[in-house]
Amino acid sequence: MHTDIKVGLSCNNACIHCIMAPVQEMMLAEGCNLDESLDAVKGKIRVAAGNGYKQVVLTGGEVTLRDDFVDLVAYAVSLGLRVTVQTNGRRLSRQSVLDRLKNIENTQVEFVIAYHSDNAVVHDRITRRKGSHAQTMSAIKLLKVLDFEISGKIVLSLANYERLEDTLVSLEELGVHDVIVAFPHAEEFSPERFAQVVPTYTMISESLHEALQRARSLKMQVLCETIPFCSMRKEDWHANLDIFHSLQKVERLKPVIAMPGREDLIDWNFMRGKIKSKGHQCTSCLLDRLCEGPWQEYIEHFGFAEFSPIEDTDSIENFIMNL
Ligand code: SF4
Repeated sequence: MHTDIKVGLSCNNACIHCIMAPVQEMMLAEGCNLDESLDAVKGKIRVAAGNGYKQVVLTGGEVTLRDDFVDLVAYAVSLGLRVTVQTNGRRLSRQSVLDRLKNIENTQVEFVIAYHSDNAVVHDRITRRKGSHAQTMSAIKLLKVLDFEISGKIVLSLANYERLEDTLVSLEELGVHDVIVAFPHAEEFSPERFAQVVPTYTMISESLHEALQRARSLKMQVLCETIPFCSMRKEDWHANLDIFHSLQKVERLKPVIAMPGREDLIDWNFMRGKIKSKGHQCTSCLLDRLCEGPWQEYIEHFGFAEFSPIEDTDSIENFIMNL
């Protein structure tokens, strides 16, 4: 079980696919503080430990921008929690931050680092920050030297889907074997931004298949987030994150989210179901109960015509047997 604690919304990147950007703009316009105080975040960490959670995810915005970032990690570890830091990694390329991290038990901390392309120009175009690729790469290498566990996160977009295979290979070469490939969540995007960022599933299908096959041959663990089974080749279904989400529901492992400025916790398993969509044809799909479907706004823009129900029982049997 884990609690996802959003420590604030300040960030040193400005990613084109960022789901938090509209919220950040609204908070700034209303004169709100983007970041939680140290006491408030520590309070949420204490509540997580008190409620029996074994793990907290520290996320933002960009958590490593905080001067108290290492203190927060150390505090969570001191309460017996395992800590996952979701980060773009740029600040972790600084020796001063690494020197402080060295004092923390490295088996208790893991980093999920956003790495959107092997190509610096493409990555920097996505983050809209020149030099961000070099800093992120450097952080991965330095954290590896300190023996921290690292996994990668790639958010797909029109800017990078064609380089997915190269990006996965690059992560493998950096020593990162576990990767999440996420479809962009474009809620509240303006029509212009949506058109610049979001590909269709049909568009990405070939690149995705080739990338997943290559990853498999490299023995990487790659999972795809919000890519329905019918948009994947059947030999790639094992990489669909919905399988793990279903297990979480069955086992009642409830990931929750603590938002900045809010005391209540959001049940992410429940919320996710509310902001995804299924079509009428899904009722005849044999994977309907496992599949969460695409994000709602995707259907609002592109409709449901490209989704075909899976009705081949042999493929399903093979798939279930190999799970
Ligand atoms: S349930 Fe619907 S979206 Fe999911 S795989 Fe089947 S047809 Fe596709």
